Amino acid sequence: MSDRPTDTQNIEARLALADTLCAQRGKRLTPIRRKVLELLLRQGRSIKAYELLDAIKAEHHGAAPPTVYRALDFLVEEGLIHRLDAINAWSACHDAAGAPHDLLVVCTHCGAVAEISDPSMSRQLAERVARTGFALATHETEIRALCPDCQATQVQDHGHAH
Ligand SMILES: [Zn+2]
Ligand SMILES: [Zn+2]
Repeated sequence: MSDRPTDTQNIEARLALADTLCAQRGKRLTPIRRKVLELLLRQGRSIKAYELLDAIKAEHHGAAPPTVYRALDFLVEEGLIHRLDAINAWSACHDAAGAPHDLLVVCTHCGAVAEISDPSMSRQLAERVARTGFALATHETEIRALCPDCQATQVQDHGHAH
């Protein structure tokens, strides 16, 4: 984790943006919701529930798991963070004020996330799924992948194998 002032400024700016977005929608970024978002922003990558709970407990005594989960649900609903079922984790949205991210490319090795907005591809996917009689349960599609860093590491580790 880095403490460069630019990072801190960036996080402050994104928290302020989250405040504004919530206010515009008549919602409130309560202290616990803000704290959860701040932790995710500071991570810079996805974080699992137990890691998040540990981090919150260290700073925010008396934050029971249900409270944290409710805060996570709120932040997902407001598009401020993404829930990643593929790795059972959450990540802060890189562009909460922009177009909704409907494709999330998740590195199953390290938890890095690339966010993509591609409504036409999502529409095609939903139509193709509908032909099976199923209906998509969420408007976000997760794609399991390996990020560039992990691809490089794997080549080093397994370059001679197979
Ligand atoms: Zn996003
Ligand atoms: Zn990775």
